[in-house]
Amino acid sequence: MTVQTQRFIDLWDILGLRFQCTKCNASLLLSMSKEIDASKLRTCPNCDKPWLSVSGSTVESAVKEAVSAVKMLVRQFAAEGGFPVGCTLSLQVNSEPEKQSGGKALEG
Ligand SMILES: [Zn+2]
Repeated sequence: MTVQTQRFIDLWDILGLRFQCTKCNASLLLSMSKEIDASKLRTCPNCDKPWLSVSGSTVESAVKEAVSAVKMLVRQFAAEGGFPVGCTLSLQVNSEPEKQSGGKALEG
């Protein structure tokens, strides 16, 4: 018999974003309840390794948009006072922690 476990989190369970440097392992935890300024994450605050902006390209706007989208969805799916949605929304997360990608692209 094979047992599979699926894990889901609600959007309001997302309390913060953790950024960890792939060079020095310094980590920075930013609360979702406060303003997150992605422009301050261009380089590691400890070793200066480029984080969100590398070789003239940047993912700053993608981070800003993701944070904004999560905050908006939390408001819209709020039990009271949000948009009158007829469903719930949860995120499925990896149920096998040892297979975490560590920031690399997820395997299909
Ligand atoms: Zn670093």
